Amino acid sequence: MPSVADLSTIELPSLPPALAVGWLGETEDYPQGPIDRRVFDALFALCVEAWQPWTTAGFHRCTLCQITGGPSAVSHEGRLVGIGTTNVFVPFEETLYVAPSHVLHYIDAHRYRPPDVFLEAVVACPPMRSMDYWRALRRAGVIVRRP
Ligand SMILES: [Zn+2]
Repeated sequence: MPSVADLSTIELPSLPPALAVGWLGETEDYPQGPIDRRVFDALFALCVEAWQPWTTAGFHRCTLCQITGGPSAVSHEGRLVGIGTTNVFVPFEETLYVAPSHVLHYIDAHRYRPPDVFLEAVVACPPMRSMDYWRALRRAGVIVRRP
C-alpha cells in the first residue's frame, strides 16, 4: 500500500479531490496515540458495508505487521469487517476524507492516531448508506449514484 501523508489531497476516479487519512507505509513514523473508544466504534460502524464508488482489484496487506501481513478482517463487538480491499469515505462539511479499511487495524494493533479533524468527521458522519449520508456526500462534491 502506498504511503500518503495524512490530509494530503488525492485524486480518485470519479470523485472530487479527497483528503487521505491512514495510508500508512512500511515505516513506524506515523502519528500514534490513544483514541476515544466511541470514535473507534463510530469508525467501525462506517466500515461495515461501506459505500464503494468503484470495485477494487487485489488485496492489500498490512506492511507494519512484519511476519503475517496482518488480518484480512477486524472483529469488534460481534461484528466483522473485511479489510484490505475497501475504503471508507467520510464526508464532513464540504470535504471528503478517504481512509483504507485497514485504518481499523492500524488504530487497534499499531496505535495509529488519525488527525483530530478526521476523528471529528467520523463522529459527525451520518450512518452509512442513510439519506443523510448521501446528502453529506453531495455536500462534499460527490455525484452519488446509489447502488
Ligand atoms: Zn498490522
